[in-house]
Formats: sequence, structure tokens, C-alpha cells
Amino acid sequence: MSSTHLLYPGLFAFGVSTYAAVMLLIVRKLIRQSARLTDATRSDRLTGLLNRFAFMSILSAYDNEDDMSIILFDLDGFKAINESFGIEAGDGLLIEMGRRLDRICGDRCRLYRIGSDLFAMKPRGDAIMTRTEAAIARIRTALEIPFEVGASHLMLTASIGVAVAQERAISGPALFEQAHMALNHAKTNRKGQAVYYTEQLGRDIQRGHQIEREIGEGLQRGEFSVWYQPVVDRAGATVSVEALARWPGRPGGELSPAEFIPHAERSGQIHALGLYVLRRACIDFYDRPDLRVSVNLSPAQFHDTRLVDDVAAVLLETGFPVERLEFEVTEGQLIDLPQQADKVLGRLRELGVSIALDDFGSGYSSIGYLRRYRFDRLKIDKSLVDGIALDPRAGNLLVATVALANALDMPATAEGVETGEQARLLRLAGFQALQGYYFGRPQPFQKVALPRKSDILPFKRKEQA
Ligand code: C2E
Ligand code: CA
Ligand code: CA
Repeated sequence: MSSTHLLYPGLFAFGVSTYAAVMLLIVRKLIRQSARLTDATRSDRLTGLLNRFAFMSILSAYDNEDDMSIILFDLDGFKAINESFGIEAGDGLLIEMGRRLDRICGDRCRLYRIGSDLFAMKPRGDAIMTRTEAAIARIRTALEIPFEVGASHLMLTASIGVAVAQERAISGPALFEQAHMALNHAKTNRKGQAVYYTEQLGRDIQRGHQIEREIGEGLQRGEFSVWYQPVVDRAGATVSVEALARWPGRPGGELSPAEFIPHAERSGQIHALGLYVLRRACIDFYDRPDLRVSVNLSPAQFHDTRLVDDVAAVLLETGFPVERLEFEVTEGQLIDLPQQADKVLGRLRELGVSIALDDFGSGYSSIGYLRRYRFDRLKIDKSLVDGIALDPRAGNLLVATVALANALDMPATAEGVETGEQARLLRLAGFQALQGYYFGRPQPFQKVALPRKSDILPFKRKEQA
């Protein structure tokens, strides 16, 4: 017997053709199994879409031969939904989102779920720009119908980041990184919109990183300071000040808070900066029992579990009376982080701090939020105040807003008052307090003109007369 016979006795027992047929079956089965195995490793268990691993493989296989675009998007406020409705409800929403996208996209683009609520799309075919735009329109279509979450129906938006490799040499992973940068930009600056990565955006992001480094150094070197803007009552007497961060010592030139605060928030340095402002304000105004002090509180500060203890420590250290301190928060912060906001605001209230709702009228402005959080004051945004001298309807709106605030036991402050005429009309509308350049711009503590209440009594009498 030859060695082949010894090794493969079956070959001869069944005959060559039978053996080949059996082998074929075994090979087919192995291929099927391995395909299933590949599917399992490449597909997302929750939504059934392709997963991060599959996405990474197409990125690393990209050879720049053809044009390609990558669209990344996530659902705005998903974390809050998970927090409020529970993880199961959040999962249900993701499954439904996957289903809708799959139905709408068909085979016109590849769809991936690559993170918790982070999805990726790769449009297929030529004319890459047109296809990319069509794919973005499909994401919007998928969001047109409300989602059933628990017993609620929620309308959702998605922030979208796009990077296109067209007539430029770039690797797949680098393109992914650019789409990610565009997405982060959309999430922080243009929620609910699509942002395309451009070289300019890349430069802006670099500058942002540079500013974030500088904030850290600036805090250590004492480059920041705090300016104060007066808030007056109906009679024109200064009743409080708003503390506003300034950065006069920045070696590269001063930046406005509107520019550096978002970077401080993004990098987490707002904790240190916010406490610096609070501490400075408490020290500066310790000796002015006739004035209250308002300090702005950033959304990022709600994440900090030490916030309330730190505030308590500053009050203890400076001896500043808690009943003279007010924090200003914006509505966006409450919508994004409802549970954290509940917890932090509750604990701040226990300390005895008042809470004002800032920039009312500039954003979502739901009466539900006013009732839920029971603010101590409502600050009406400059954008509402601006029109008062020009448009009678703007005046009616303000009268109604003051009535709403007062009905909920909140005094109302108008911000951004720039002219005497505005001030007159705002008083007529019923505002309890006014703030703006007309009464005083923000100034350093040494310069801020703050007559004590007793000094302005004659003026008060004149107004009342
Ligand atoms: P905000 O809290 O709404 O502060 C009011 C802003 O409006 C201030 O700008 C103030 O200078 C400006 N303003 C006041 N009256 C008028 C007016 O009559 N006309 C005009 N055109 N503007 C007026 P500022 O100081 O540049 O601050 C911008 C924003 O930066 C603030 O808006 C606040 O959101 C943020 N910010 C400033 N300091 C801090 C801080 O210490 N912590 C935090 N978290 N945010 C801060
Ligand atoms: Ca404010
Ligand atoms: Ca404001």
C-alpha cells in the first residue's frame, strides 16, 4: 500500500468522487461559519449596523485612489436622555435610529455605529460632494419624525462633522480625525448643524489648543482679573454687580471672555477660573453690605463634584455672606444636563445662594424650565431688549415676560440697556432691575463707580417725585 493509502484510507473506502463531495461540503460549512464569525466581529450588536472595527478596517484600507468622504454624527442631548429615561430607553432610541438610517440610506452609503451615540456614514459612488450632501440630507430625514422614548415623543437633532478627501492625499485615519474635529466643532459651536472640515477650521482648532495652554499658564501667573458691571434698581440705585472675567495680562494680547470662556470650559479650566472669579468678587465686595454680587456659572462646572464644597470653602474663607451671592446660569446648561443641574442647584440653594436664569429669551426658553427650577431671578437677554424703542410688539413681549416672571415670584432684570429711552421703556414695562452700558460698563474694582446707597438718595427722591 502506498503512503497515500495509509494517510487517506477513506479516500479509497468511499471512492474519490464521494470524498471530494464531502470535502466540498466541509469547506462550504467552514466558509459559512467564518462569514458568520466575520459578521459578528464586524457588526454592532445593538443596532445591527456595521461597527467600529469594520469602520476602522475601511479607513486603514483607503489608498487615496478614489475620492472619499466621511460623515460622523451624534444625537444632541443623548446623554441627558439616558440620564432621564434610563439606559434601556436610550438603547431603544439608538436601535430606532439605526433602523431609520438603514431604511433611508439603502445601499447608497455604508452605515456604522462606532460609539455610544456616534454614527458614521460613508457615501458610495462618484460625485463625492453631491453624494455627501445627499447623505447629510438623509440624516436629517431620519430625524424628522419624533422618537418614542418611554411615554414621551422627542424631536431630536444631530450634530454632524464631515471630512472629504477630494484631490488631496490623505490617509483614511487622518480623514477620520478631521471629521472628528469637525464634529466636535459642530457640537460645541453649531449644535444640530453640519460642519465640514476645512484648513481654516484646522487652524482655528490649533489656536484653540494654544489658548487652552495659555489659560493654564495665565491662571498660574495671575494674568486674569475680574471687572464689575453695576445693576440698578427702578430708581437708578446700584443694587448689585455682575462679576465678569477679564484677561488683561495675556502676553499675546487681551481676549474677550466670549472668546476664552468657551476654551476654559472645553479644557475643564473653567473650574479654576470660575473659583478665581468667585473668590475675587467675594473679597472685593466683602465690605459693601449694600450690594449683592452675581457670578456666572458655566455648564462645565456642573460636572465638577467638588463645586458646591469649593463654593462653601470660598464663602468660609472670605467671610462673604451667602445671602448676597447669586449665580447666573443659562438655560442651555439645564437642558443638556438636567439631573446634574438639579443636584448642583439644589445643593447650592441649601447653602443659601440665589440662582438667576441668564440670557432668558435667547434660547429655548420653556416655561416648564422656569417652573421646574424656581429661579430667584430672571435676566432678560439683550436681544429682546434691543428692539424695545423701535417696535411696539417688542415692548408688549417684554411686558408679558415681566408678568410671567412675576407670576412665578421672580424679579426680572433687563440686560444690555444702552440708551435712556430703552431704560425709560423698560421701567414702564415693569422691570425691577436694569443693567447695561447706559448705567455703567464693566470696570476694574478700583474704577467702578459705585456710590453707596446713602449717596444717591437725593437722586432717588427726585425720580420718585
Ligand atoms: P453675560 O453673562 O451675558 O454677561 C453680559 C455681557 O454683556 C458682558 O460681556 C457685558 O460686558 C456685556 N454687556 C453688558 N451691558 C452691555 C450693553 O449695554 N451693551 C452691550 N453690547 N454689551 C453689554 P462680557 O464681559 O464680554 O462677557 C461675555 C460673556 O462671557 C458673559 O455673558 C458670560 O456668559 C461669559 N463670562 C464672563 N465672565 C465669566 C465668568 O467669570 N464665568 C463664566 N462662566 N462666564 C463668564
Ligand atoms: Ca451673566
Ligand atoms: Ca446675560
